[in-house]
Amino acid sequence: MSTTRRKFIKDSVRASAAVAVGTSFIFTESTAQAPATTTLQFAQIPLPYAFNALEPNIDALTMEIHYGKHHATYVKNVNEAIAADKIVYENEKDFFANASKLSAKARNNGGGVYNHNFFWQAMKPNGGGVPAGKVSDALNGAFGSFDKFKEQFNDAAMKRFGSGWAWLINDGGKLKIGSTPNQDNPLMDISELKGTPVLALDVWEHAYYLKYQNKRNEYVAHWWNTINWDEVAKNLK
Ligand code: MN
Repeated sequence: MSTTRRKFIKDSVRASAAVAVGTSFIFTESTAQAPATTTLQFAQIPLPYAFNALEPNIDALTMEIHYGKHHATYVKNVNEAIAADKIVYENEKDFFANASKLSAKARNNGGGVYNHNFFWQAMKPNGGGVPAGKVSDALNGAFGSFDKFKEQFNDAAMKRFGSGWAWLINDGGKLKIGSTPNQDNPLMDISELKGTPVLALDVWEHAYYLKYQNKRNEYVAHWWNTINWDEVAKNLK
């Protein structure tokens, strides 16, 4: 870039900054309440595969309702709560770290959005199998073997009474397995299980009832065939 062009851009930035400051000054004087400059908005990630892509492990109708109705409703509700409660956290991390101060609507629906976005990404068509590389090393190191890890994770998923989530988390470099009730997650200050999510499993009945009815164990067993271990590797960092 030429020096002249660079100078032009610099001057333009300065000029627009001056305009912005001027506008904001006038606005603040003439209105009782200036709008927050940054408002956190939650959003659904685009589903990284088709509704029927996880068949036969997770059926298309369940995916369509789960993503299109349940997850979408959490988005609508949390954004309503953010507006109504005048929540000004700048990002999801701060929002969850202050979960104890949020209304039930903000906390439950915010958790609902985050947890599902995380869940969709950690699945893929023709997933599953036994992980290799650093995921394998990390699981063997923390739990002794992949089978022992799987057994503990299944246990967390089966013992969560009612609605909730099973998690593999990184708690300051240590991998741990646990579960949370409702739409709570390990990023929330109110959660007993705290850390960075690595893998999550939705054990709400809405995640499996159409295909598996009351048989949560069958749903959990089939979910292992959908895991996107490359995504898990990314979450390990
Ligand atoms: Mn769900």
